[in-house]
Amino acid sequence: MNFFEVQTRKQREVLNITERVEELVRESKLKEGVCLVFVPHATAGVIVNEFEPNITRDYLKFFEKIAPKNAEWEHNAIDDNAEAHLLSAFLGQGKTIPISEGKLVLGTWQRILLCELDGPRNRKVVVQVTGK
Ligand code: ZN
Repeated sequence: MNFFEVQTRKQREVLNITERVEELVRESKLKEGVCLVFVPHATAGVIVNEFEPNITRDYLKFFEKIAPKNAEWEHNAIDDNAEAHLLSAFLGQGKTIPISEGKLVLGTWQRILLCELDGPRNRKVVVQVTGK
């Protein structure tokens, strides 16, 4: 299993992991296939979208709007991070990206982004490629 680790620094942040995924795809020498990027965590997520400072702040604003920290979530009685679980469930733990001619098929503005929702933590990002 191929993976890399990311040490997050904030409680919530969005990090660009595209280059690290691309590196593993290059090393795989695969020409045509698919790449699965997956985080084995219940309070993190993976999205594929634009990465620049304004939209990155907007992701965080959006997360707070759809799952406010101060709402009366029942899981908060256990470990006070219900909104992180809800956002993780909503965003999903992984994405599948096509590989063609040895490269990830991403649109001009698409990047692979790790969403930390309950950090700081050490996160594992699993990258599995399959094809020929
Ligand atoms: Zn929890």
